[in-house]
Amino acid sequence: MDRLLAASERLFAEACAVIPGGVNSPARAFASVGGTPPFITEAQGCWLTDADGHRYVDLVCSWGPMILGHAHPKVVEAVRTAAGAGLSFGAPTRTETDLAAEIIRRVPVVGKVRLVNSGTEATMSALRLARGFTGRAKVVKFSGCYHGHVDALLADAGSGVATLALPSSPGVTGATAADTIVLPYNDVAAVRAAFAELGDQIAAVITEASPGNMGVVPPEPGFNAALREITAEHGALLIIDEVMTGFRVTESGWYGVDPVDADLFTFGKVISGGLPAAAFGGRAEVMDRLAPLGPVYQAGTLSGNPVAVAAGLATLRAADAEVYGALDKNADRLTALLTEALTDAGVAHQIPRAGNMFSVFFAEEPVTDFAAARASDTWRFPPFFHALLDAGVYLPCSAFEAWFVSAALSDDAFERIAAALPRAAEAARDATPEPKT
Ligand SMILES: *Cc1c(COP(=O)(O)O)cnc(C)c1O
Repeated sequence: MDRLLAASERLFAEACAVIPGGVNSPARAFASVGGTPPFITEAQGCWLTDADGHRYVDLVCSWGPMILGHAHPKVVEAVRTAAGAGLSFGAPTRTETDLAAEIIRRVPVVGKVRLVNSGTEATMSALRLARGFTGRAKVVKFSGCYHGHVDALLADAGSGVATLALPSSPGVTGATAADTIVLPYNDVAAVRAAFAELGDQIAAVITEASPGNMGVVPPEPGFNAALREITAEHGALLIIDEVMTGFRVTESGWYGVDPVDADLFTFGKVISGGLPAAAFGGRAEVMDRLAPLGPVYQAGTLSGNPVAVAAGLATLRAADAEVYGALDKNADRLTALLTEALTDAGVAHQIPRAGNMFSVFFAEEPVTDFAAARASDTWRFPPFFHALLDAGVYLPCSAFEAWFVSAALSDDAFERIAAALPRAAEAARDATPEPKT
């Protein structure tokens, strides 16, 4: 370790005494890479500052939301104004309509939207609605797709679940798990077979628009369209989870790349502007089954919170064509640097892309599903990670996570990354697998 982390180490120890694992979401815990997570005190643009005064180029962006960079003046101003007018009313406000309308403008197949507080709540509510609408119990999800920590969807999930190698989670009952059918990703034949057997019991198929929680593993051309066709044939709903991709990869999310008309979509991350907010939406006929119009109950004391909505709306309004152009250009520039450094060091690698999202797999062959992601040389990742972190580049602390660029990445940030990469690539090359115990 080149960096001194005295303050972060002290803060982490204090946190561990009162918070399980010292973190409020396992993805932050450095469980698979080891070491102490830097405690962040401030962030501006593409730079993070930790409690020991180190500065890092941020390639995590709060796991996706911060596409404009940190503390963007327009977003901060919108939050200040909203906060000054009161933090929460438990009554409707006009900005909630504005945010819903902005989502619908960007994804016109969505007819109505309901705002919630997290991506988990969005997928949980969409699933309940699909079950209520169809009167059926079963749900199909794909191995390696993560939809938040919803009980029914915590089977064979990616993200922190993959990082910690948990098959699922204690506390999820057998009855809940029994209604979840987990299929291999990108496998249309498996979906057809499941529907041939159980088609009249399946309420919905839920899929990440383009998965980013087993690392980035894009759908093969026509995969999402095939899910649309099969679900429609059997009277099941299609739920496309755009929590990660939504309003990040294009102005219309993954829908702008691959316009498949799902019945329901879930959104989060970018639409929050960095505060707790998320949404689900879809065909009005389905959405109108929600209380108070319909019988499917769903609620939230702080849902549509005026400050969170202001942050999300300001972020979306600032995210114009120029921002999406910059995100793509920055992803191009970063993946070119990664490819060059890993190639020069002679490390086999794959850098799959979904628009401006990508991840780095140490593998000889393209990764098209979770099994292939898990079979990659994940043991090369910790030394690669720590070499970059020590050099002031903050990247996702797991081989199963996407990297996230912002539009704020600057030339000096790229210079720092370029300077750090050769040594990190050599660390990956020189890594050895842990002996099996
Ligand atoms: C992050 C994520 C979620 C969960 O969102 P939270 O706000 O963390 O609850 C759901 N689905 C996908 C695809 C995600 O990436």
